[in-house]
Parts: sequence; C-alpha cells; structure tokens
Amino acid sequence: MTEPFLALDEPPAYGVVNPDGASPYVLLCEHASPRIPRCLGDLGLQEAERLRHIGWDIGAQALALGLAAALDAPLFLTNYSRLAIDCNRPLDAASLMPEVSEATVVPGNRGLTASARRARIEALHNPYHAAVARRLDARQAAGLPTLVVGVHSFTPQFKGNERPWHAGILFERAEAFGRALIAALAEDPTLVIAANEPYRIDTDDYTVPVHGDARGLPAVLLEVRHDLIADAAGVRDWTARLSHALRAAQTHGTSGRLADRAGR
Ligand SMILES: [Zn+2]
Repeated sequence: MTEPFLALDEPPAYGVVNPDGASPYVLLCEHASPRIPRCLGDLGLQEAERLRHIGWDIGAQALALGLAAALDAPLFLTNYSRLAIDCNRPLDAASLMPEVSEATVVPGNRGLTASARRARIEALHNPYHAAVARRLDARQAAGLPTLVVGVHSFTPQFKGNERPWHAGILFERAEAFGRALIAALAEDPTLVIAANEPYRIDTDDYTVPVHGDARGLPAVLLEVRHDLIADAAGVRDWTARLSHALRAAQTHGTSGRLADRAGR
C-alpha cells in the first residue's frame, strides 16, 4: 500500500472562503502559502529560502481574504507552496516544479521522475483547478455575471533590479476591464500603477487564460508589491483601495467586451 501524498493531519490542497458570496468577482490565490507537503521534506532548502518570495506571495493570502470579505466574493486559495507545484502554471511549463527559482537551486525538484511529478499534479494542482472550474461552470449555468481576479504580490527587487510600481494589473483579453481597474486605482496620484507589469500574461500562465479568457470571462491578475502588504495596516489599506477600484471597474468587466486576440 502506498502512503497518500497528503497525510490526514495535513491541510487539503486548497481552501474555499465565502463560496456563495453575492459579488460577481471570483477571487483566486495560487501562491497563498509557503507550506511544503510533509512527504517532500524541506525540498532541500533552508527555512529562510522557503519563506521568501520564491516560496509564496508574501501578503497575498491576507489581501485575498480581506477582498473576499469586503466584496462578499468567493475565494479559492491553495494551501501549499509554489515550490512544490506552481498552480498558476500549465502542466507543461518548465517552471511548474522549478529546479531553480530566481537564483536559488531547489534540490528537491531536481531530476523528478514522471511518477513523482504526477503525484504532485494529482494531489495539489488538479483538485484546486477542478474546484474552481466546477464553481465557474455552475455560475455560468446559472447565468451569474462573473469576473475572475487572481490575487498576487511581487518582490520589490528581482535579480538585483528595483521595481518602480506599487501595483500592476495583468490582463490578456480583458483589456477594457484591466484598463478600468488601472484608471480607478490611478485616481490616487501618489500611486504608480502599471498595465502588464512586472509580468505579462503568457503561455506559462494558467488562471487568466484558462479560467478567464478561454471561458469568455473577464479576468485579470492583481500584483501588489509585497512590502506594501507585509503587515496588517498595509493589508487594510490595500484591501480598501482595491475593493473600491474593483467595484468601480465592475461594469466594464460585466459588459462582456473582450479584446479580439487576433487584433492585437
Ligand atoms: Zn503569484
């Protein structure tokens, strides 16, 4: 008999908060936790490495919980580190189980067998995305307007470079919604808010292309610089700011206009 990937006393792969919330927003948080499944040990990394931004999005879970409460929105969040498996990556992405993250070698991810990879996919990636897909299917079947928002944070410095933005709004097809959100946030002239920074949505993304664009649902990722949401006061501040902006941008998102991919 083989041991289950997650022991009975470990958290399940994902959690759901406020599943029947009245908001048109469905919030997703794939990098919410730095926890490593016990069967993977410490992946060969010191705690200081596992707890920095390569292991999780610092502050994102607290911000996502704040937004779920402020907006009365459903929230799905993963309970394990993206070093074990990155749930915002498609299964064929090289960075799904990164052998190197930023400049840190992840010994426990080197030379994984096909069965070791499959075990992580089946235990962590599949259940989370199946749960999100079921909920979106049910909402679409019920005719509920739905916008998909991923909640993330980014590190102020990456590979030695300072990042100038307070937050970025990332989108592929949902340009009208993304731009409306940026305009609402930019009403505060002290903020530097960018479109499609510090990353762009590409073929290594999962949430926006699969749960949003492929379904014809407006979808963006919020990326907040993590030093701004590293304490309770920062989380409160950004929860208020983002929930206000999301309410303001809601009508742009629910009008159903998605940019024509072929026209870009
Ligand atoms: Zn992230």
